Amino acid sequence: MCDSTHRHITDAYTGESPHAAQPDNMVIIPHYPPMAPSCSEATMQYPSLNDYPGEYNFEILLDGTGSGFKAWMYSYELNKVFIDIGKVLPIQVKLLYKHDEPAPPPLFLRATPIYSQDDHRGRPVERCPLHVCRDNEINKGFEAVVKHIVRCTSAHCQYPMDERSGRHTCVTPLSPPQPGADTVTLMYSFVCKTSCLGGMDRRPVLLLLTLENQHGQILGRRSLSK
Ligand SMILES: [Zn+2]
Repeated sequence: MCDSTHRHITDAYTGESPHAAQPDNMVIIPHYPPMAPSCSEATMQYPSLNDYPGEYNFEILLDGTGSGFKAWMYSYELNKVFIDIGKVLPIQVKLLYKHDEPAPPPLFLRATPIYSQDDHRGRPVERCPLHVCRDNEINKGFEAVVKHIVRCTSAHCQYPMDERSGRHTCVTPLSPPQPGADTVTLMYSFVCKTSCLGGMDRRPVLLLLTLENQHGQILGRRSLSK
């Protein structure tokens, strides 16, 4: 998506009083990005982990060819991602858009870390005392969302917390693929390790990825183990 368009649209919203007198030639630009759903069934205490392609045939793909100096690795046998703290993991989202629809509705990808063992599954995955500290270098620019383990580099990503379950999630608006592409790539990072003391404490974690509409209705579901 064109950055300059984004900037233009964003700037239209920086005025302090939207109802103040406006010049005649002012163009009313629809709200963008669409408001992300804060909670969904994926943020409940016990969300379903079943793969569900849904009507958009939702798939996620990890392409290891661009990982360069191996900041991350994916094992197909284990369906498991190995990634260093703070490094970026590209996740490709593939959807089957319905061509008879004039425009797809606003769609979002929510990433929710979940403990994969039954004993711990109902507990939110929280950051360790060392890394959650606001002064930690890894939180520079993310002071408002220090409790979130999963981050997305998208400028429009939102970071809600479900107060019922204590789960911190990351919700990113999805745009349609660019011409000639059939996937959209979102960049994620994990700002604690599964070995963090007082945090995940070596408990295995999976990343639940849910395709959702603006109301938090789940339209597709996949997961990745870490
Ligand atoms: Zn940590």
